[in-house]
Amino acid sequence: MPTETKIAAGSSTIVSANPATGEVLAALACASPSDVQDAVLRAKQAQPGWEATPVSQRIAVLRRFQWLLSEQRDRVADLICREAGKPAVEALTTEVLVILDATEFCIRNAHDFLREEPLPHGNLAMKTKRGKLLREPFGVIGIISPWNYPFSIAATETLGALVTGNAVVLKPSEFTPLIGLELQRLLLAAGLNPNLMQVIVGEGPAGAALIDAPIDKLIFTGSVATGKRVAEAAARKLLPVVLELGGKDPMIVLDDADVEIASSGALWGAFMNAGQTCLSVERCYVHRSLYEKFLEACSNKIARLRVGNGIGSEVEVGPLIHDRQVRTVDEHVRDAVLHGARLLQGGKRLTELGSNFYAPTLLADVTPDMRIIQEETFGPVLPVAPFDTDEEAIQLANDSDFGLAASVWTSNRRRGEAMAKQIKAGTVMINDVISCFGIGEAPHGGVKLSGIGRTHGKMGLAEMVQVKYVDTDLLPGMPKVWWFGYGEKFRQQMNGFIDLLFARSWGQKLKGALRSAGLLRRSNRI
Ligand code: NAD
Repeated sequence: MPTETKIAAGSSTIVSANPATGEVLAALACASPSDVQDAVLRAKQAQPGWEATPVSQRIAVLRRFQWLLSEQRDRVADLICREAGKPAVEALTTEVLVILDATEFCIRNAHDFLREEPLPHGNLAMKTKRGKLLREPFGVIGIISPWNYPFSIAATETLGALVTGNAVVLKPSEFTPLIGLELQRLLLAAGLNPNLMQVIVGEGPAGAALIDAPIDKLIFTGSVATGKRVAEAAARKLLPVVLELGGKDPMIVLDDADVEIASSGALWGAFMNAGQTCLSVERCYVHRSLYEKFLEACSNKIARLRVGNGIGSEVEVGPLIHDRQVRTVDEHVRDAVLHGARLLQGGKRLTELGSNFYAPTLLADVTPDMRIIQEETFGPVLPVAPFDTDEEAIQLANDSDFGLAASVWTSNRRRGEAMAKQIKAGTVMINDVISCFGIGEAPHGGVKLSGIGRTHGKMGLAEMVQVKYVDTDLLPGMPKVWWFGYGEKFRQQMNGFIDLLFARSWGQKLKGALRSAGLLRRSNRI
């Protein structure tokens, strides 16, 4: 069965199927708007108790979740393989391992992150006060997630929300609902109250219903087109949102790079998860002195890639998620070839493997006007173009509406880091790609059309809390200088005080001090 028919149009049932084989895994009822509303109300009721639960007990739930995930990793990875089609090794490394590490990050950092933070005052007039910052949960966090990292994206966001005291209502992609439910199963098995982590099964309308429901914040990951619709709906109710959207990540190979290493990196960056990674290498710019050598190395290595059903440990490139995705990839490749790109590998469907397979494709001499350079392709294609100077490489890298991540390949660390500063992106990696997503501490998110806000790391935790400032006056019996009882004398005294603090010369400061001397003894206060 072609997986395009995974979802019966207009029906209230979702059919989950294996994109490699078409095997039907489950048929699930879609949540109605009132189901979504009820779920959010249950979460709202349960959340205050969870917020009041000591952080150490919340961490204990995460620790048990981590143990269960580690012990049941084969079961989880197998489901990811079957429902998302990714190779077994990637299900283990880019999904399970990433989440074991992200859980560890939350466990190790939640106490410090949530600790009250003293806020010293610089203003002399405010020295009798003590300020502190509190980080409090929003309440109910809605999470809408995509199919390409169906476990790791939903789990990172869910764990961050939970450890900071929020309840979660998750709407996983309609293509990977079983993996969303698996995440829920593990958390409940770890002892979490079921109302604190609920899963809404459904397509776009279920996501829209979640935005309409009384959630307190939304973390959305998906395409730019849906992200814009989500942002509009959220703006109507001033709902705070994080938007993790698409990318068109450039890879820059400088003239001092190691071609062997850079070509292997380019392959992994472009074809990992069949190119369906927001951080995929979607454009590759290579210094002209290395260009042909680099293309030859890539071409030879692509010929050795094993494409097939991800279930086998030997497979490196699996299927695409559905036929629509295959068609987009094919259209981009054809458009590039039509406009003069050289097709060095691939460029065709692999129908002998199944309807969703596309051959790892290498395109040379791509140009900025081609769709493959302007739009997110999200498939197994490595488009390459030459450049002559570092300035030209930066200009090419920045010539995009997207700004998720980028990579620079060089044997000179300083040169790479200097280039990183000039690239407009949320992340720049030197001599690697995508693996930043597996670093629990590293913030993830983009600039320009790639989104708003961050997930992962402390900045990801910061998106899950509202900062409250608490200020205590240490002299409660003393009326404040700035209260009512204004008049010319008070104005002069305040002018003197401003001079004392901010005048240019010491003489003016001294005069200011004398003029302001009577401030504390004002007699006409109200
Ligand atoms: P998508 O935008 O089609 O769907 C994402 C989610 O939004 C799904 O759960 C979907 O059901 C839901 N949705 C659809 N319409 C909605 C609506 N009107 N209101 C609320 N929710 C709605 O994206 P996709 O195809 O699932 O994922 C691929 C895209 O996600 C790519 O563009 C990729 O780059 C991006 N992505 C970004 C990141 C990141 O961290 N920046 C990570 C992974 C994927």
